[in-house]
Amino acid sequence: MKDIDWTHLTFSYTPTDYIVRSHYANGSWSKPYATADPTVPLHAAATALQYAQQAFEGLKAYRTMDGKVSIFRPEMNAQRMQQSAEAMYMAPVPKEMFIEACELAVRMNIDYLPPYETGATLYIRPILFGTTPKVGVSPAHEFEFCVVVTPIGPYFPAGFGTTPFIINRHVDRAAPLGTGQWKVGGNYASSFRATEPAHEQGMGVLFLDSEEHKYLDECGGANIFLVKQNTYVTPASQSILPSIINDSLMTLCGDLGIQVERRKIAVEELGEFDEAASCGTGAAISPISRIIDPDSGIIYEYGERAGKVCEQLYKAIRDIQYARVPDIHNWRHYVDL
Ligand SMILES: *Cc1c(COP(=O)(O)O)cnc(C)c1O
Repeated sequence: MKDIDWTHLTFSYTPTDYIVRSHYANGSWSKPYATADPTVPLHAAATALQYAQQAFEGLKAYRTMDGKVSIFRPEMNAQRMQQSAEAMYMAPVPKEMFIEACELAVRMNIDYLPPYETGATLYIRPILFGTTPKVGVSPAHEFEFCVVVTPIGPYFPAGFGTTPFIINRHVDRAAPLGTGQWKVGGNYASSFRATEPAHEQGMGVLFLDSEEHKYLDECGGANIFLVKQNTYVTPASQSILPSIINDSLMTLCGDLGIQVERRKIAVEELGEFDEAASCGTGAAISPISRIIDPDSGIIYEYGERAGKVCEQLYKAIRDIQYARVPDIHNWRHYVDL
């Protein structure tokens, strides 16, 4: 194992020893291979660079309590990347190949997988993009699929903390019939102008539906859920990314006897909830202290500490990820070392 101060790692990129690559040409994918060179030579006119023909995924490998290595629900990420590929006119990566490439990247960089006790994990970032040089507007017919891994620190080094969020009605993350439901880089490039100014002030951004700016959509790179008494409520919208953690939490609500509602949530309703949180692979759950609406001046308060349902769900999902409880939903994908 590498001599790394695991608990002080952040979400920034720490170099690892290998990346995994595969190239698509003449209608088929090459066998994924590991290489020590983390750079990918790319023609300056590649469609990825000209027209943002790109998609990515994000998942994590955990060192479990029993000393094994498990990836959380990778078949869901494989499936989602196929949907993104189809939407971006790219060759889909076969599911088995996606999972194999993730496993190979973990195995080749196993010395970077943080120990169980540290709360740190190995983040896995699969990337798919068009490499054919084009200046005319049309999709590539050659693609590169890469898997990069990097150790990241515990999301809450000082305990399960809260973050303030701010509503932004002046930047839309995704158009109503745009690409919001797919995990593509272009959605991020186009929302930096909302997320960066907020981050500088220590806040996250809450995007609204871009048609009316009346209903909640999601946070920059995470879904949102709210809790009213014993009910978990998360937005129904065509332009939000279907989060695998959100999906998992809704299943866990079923196990825990918490009601689930997936429906439109109007901004004015925010005052009726007891708890709010963003959810995604990064933190699993990141509780929200308050949501600021700068246009109305209203501040919706949820408290400086995580609420009861957030605590309950956070424990439940982490217990499964770290193999502290039986895997009743078959979410752990063990990697043979
Ligand atoms: C990746 C992502 C999420 C979270 O999805 P998970 O599968 O739970 O990690 C939410 N919103 C956006 C825009 C994303 O890109």
